[in-house]
Amino acid sequence: MHDVIIAGLGPAGSTAAYRLAKSGFKVLSFDKEKFPRYKSCGGCISAKIDGLIDFDISPCVEFTVKGAYFTYRSGRKLDITADKPVGYNVMRDTFDAFLLNKAMEAGAEVVEGTRITGFVDKGGHVDVSTSDGRTFSSKFLIGADGAGGVIGREHFGMTVKECAVSITAELPYDNSALCGMDGRLFIDFGTVPFGYGWMFPKKNFLSIGVAGDLSKNSGSIKKSFNELISTHELTSGLKVEDTAGWTVPVYSSSVKSVVKGRALLAGDSGRLVDPFLGEGIYFAMKTATVAADTITQALHSDSANLMPYQAWLENDLFPEFSAAEKVSNLVYNHPRLWYKILENEPAMMLKYFSVIRGEESVQSFYNWVYKRIRSRPWRLLRRWVESKFV
Ligand SMILES: Cc1cc2nc3c(=O)[nH]c(=O)nc-3n(C[C@H](O)[C@H](O)[C@H](O)COP(=O)(O)OP(=O)(O)OC[C@H]3O[C@@H](n4cnc5c(N)ncnc54)[C@H](O)[C@@H]3O)c2cc1C
Repeated sequence: MHDVIIAGLGPAGSTAAYRLAKSGFKVLSFDKEKFPRYKSCGGCISAKIDGLIDFDISPCVEFTVKGAYFTYRSGRKLDITADKPVGYNVMRDTFDAFLLNKAMEAGAEVVEGTRITGFVDKGGHVDVSTSDGRTFSSKFLIGADGAGGVIGREHFGMTVKECAVSITAELPYDNSALCGMDGRLFIDFGTVPFGYGWMFPKKNFLSIGVAGDLSKNSGSIKKSFNELISTHELTSGLKVEDTAGWTVPVYSSSVKSVVKGRALLAGDSGRLVDPFLGEGIYFAMKTATVAADTITQALHSDSANLMPYQAWLENDLFPEFSAAEKVSNLVYNHPRLWYKILENEPAMMLKYFSVIRGEESVQSFYNWVYKRIRSRPWRLLRRWVESKFV
């Protein structure tokens, strides 16, 4: 009998494994892949990670990000840079293997190349089955098997229907071509309907991609990707061969309970991704941390109560994600107007950087933006209308 079994060893699973094993619990964890494994991702981790973990991730950091060059449909370049870090760019194969190693060093038992196929909650424990036909028992189960993972899909009714779709590629790249533009992300609005495009510099690669709401991009996401690559100054003329498609399981208010008996979901398997920028690495690690602490509490008190995790989501995280949903409606429904506002008031983005750093809440950011826009409706509207005819 293990204390905890973990399905999936991305940032969520490895963080939970690390935290629980470090507290002395008997942790058994599985991933269907062998590490290092590829994960389709921009690989930018927000700087709020600094306050979350008790180890140094700098061996994996390839670029420290202090701002971004924004474009609107590959033009109208806008450099908005802060004086302190906003995020860190990593390659996910290296970063995820690094986190997994931390979990193993802490004492978690790790099985790679084996898939978890399901579980049965027996009341006093869970029986977990694996693709090699074996069954393991534990007091608790963490589903951290990512977007569309079997635990979320089959046992919690999670669906990827209202998610975002994406296309990404890792372009071999000589970063000296950034010519003084280093320390920035490249973010494009307007090319992708209800979404955005990105180019995130790493040491030897440019991680490029587009993502947008499934309902607005069904069948057309590759077209937006090709349009961005062929028109953006960083990539025009370059050949992009290998692309990958992936779902971004952004939060929606249809997400209800991620706790069921002795099992819970963390990270993408529970659709716990910020719905504005699709930021999920930090949230995978944060939800895994709170999940692990809730399980720790339950193990110490010999209880099966995992509801404090659900309560934290509902009281702390979901209100933030709901505010991010409102920001995303504002921005992606009116990308042209939003870009005009950004050009006039770059301070708005500097303020959002402080949200990304975890210094301010999304709710207060949204209220601030809303008041600012409302206090100047005619000027902005006039400029927007004028810009359409210039
Ligand atoms: C195109 C794209 C770009 C993104 N860019 C960013 C970004 O720049 N910054 C950011 O913060 N977030 C980004 N995200 C989101 C981020 O990638 C995810 O939120 C993050 O990976 C979630 O971590 P996780 O551990 O929950 O899931 P994952 O990283 O998906 O890990 C899940 C693991 O579970 C394993 N698994 C699956 N099924 C099973 C099974 N049945 N049994 C055992 N193992 C299983 C998988 O092999 C995998 O290793 C992006 C996502 C996409 C799709």
